[in-house]
Amino acid sequence: MRFPIFKTKIEGLDRKPSTRAKLGAGPVPYRNKVSGAGFNLIDPKEQKEYFQSKAGKEIEKLREYLKENSFIAYLLGKKNSGKGTYSKMFAEVINPERIDHFSIGDMVREVDKELETPERKKELINSLEKQYRGFLPLKEAISALEKRNTETLLPTELILALVKREIAKRKKKTLFIDGFPRDLDQISYSLFFRDLIGYREDPDIFILIDVPEAVIDERIKWRRICPLCNTSRNLKLLPTSKVGYDETKKEFYLLCDNPQCKGVRLMPKEGDEKGIKPIKERLKKDEKLTEQANSLYGIPKVFLRNSLPVKDAKKFIDDYEITPEYIYEWDEKEKIVKIIEKPWQVRDDEGIPSYSLLPPPVVVSLIKQMVEVLNL
Ligand SMILES: [Zn+2]
Repeated sequence: MRFPIFKTKIEGLDRKPSTRAKLGAGPVPYRNKVSGAGFNLIDPKEQKEYFQSKAGKEIEKLREYLKENSFIAYLLGKKNSGKGTYSKMFAEVINPERIDHFSIGDMVREVDKELETPERKKELINSLEKQYRGFLPLKEAISALEKRNTETLLPTELILALVKREIAKRKKKTLFIDGFPRDLDQISYSLFFRDLIGYREDPDIFILIDVPEAVIDERIKWRRICPLCNTSRNLKLLPTSKVGYDETKKEFYLLCDNPQCKGVRLMPKEGDEKGIKPIKERLKKDEKLTEQANSLYGIPKVFLRNSLPVKDAKKFIDDYEITPEYIYEWDEKEKIVKIIEKPWQVRDDEGIPSYSLLPPPVVVSLIKQMVEVLNL
């Protein structure tokens, strides 16, 4: 599936010098050192200014619309494609109080907890009795839910009833629904959406996400997690403000920024070093499901593209919108880690040298496309 490239570049807008480059605090972003201009998208304050200058009008329109109205958006894309990141950032920029995000995975985990207490279990069954339509008796569907291991999948009809219950809980809110039963054949898959679409009066929208597998691979391989607060960062792509060097292991590591963690070392999770290898099949399935969603008629679609060919970058985006890569050098004499930042280049799924975009420009394209599909 090839998604159109979205142009976030606005001529004459990349003139603003970054405060971070001026102050020289922390690792100075390479792009800012070179051009002395642009927004530092890692800084929350500059991120806000960035959204205002790139999509201020559209943000206003969406805020106005969401005062009285809502919509339901279904996020479709590969595992680790940034579904949660994009929708949470969208909510943050537009209006966190009017927008909710929930994933089918979290929903099922929450149901597991409900099943553990008799009172909450009764409540769950009561609400399911109203919503559930399936060939398997509800009792059996529930016991499938209780006895399953992580390998068995839940009956589609049960997932549907649970999703409807989640929607009902959030009456007038705009919703981003992330993830869907992942092992459906073509027929039950489209049934799933046909049953949900139009369930509420407000518009339904598909948000399709396209991310090169090389990006997902490196996100997993370099992921580092704080053992105390669970903050997740990336040694290569999203470091914390302090980087250390282990002289015996000859390894660089990140230190947690959270003051409560007192600079504890972020650790890799077991198995992450394998990257996408263990989830290859899953990714293929996710891609097929996204393609099928794209072929369903009668529902507006938004296309989010995480990468673009290097040769098109100048025309479509600003330098500071590119995901940087961090390279470290150990200075033996000074005993300090030198941090080098440069634009990260990957090959997309067709082997074309590409840049991966930081989340904010992707969210700018989401905001602008949303205004269009809602006719605002
Ligand atoms: Zn921490």
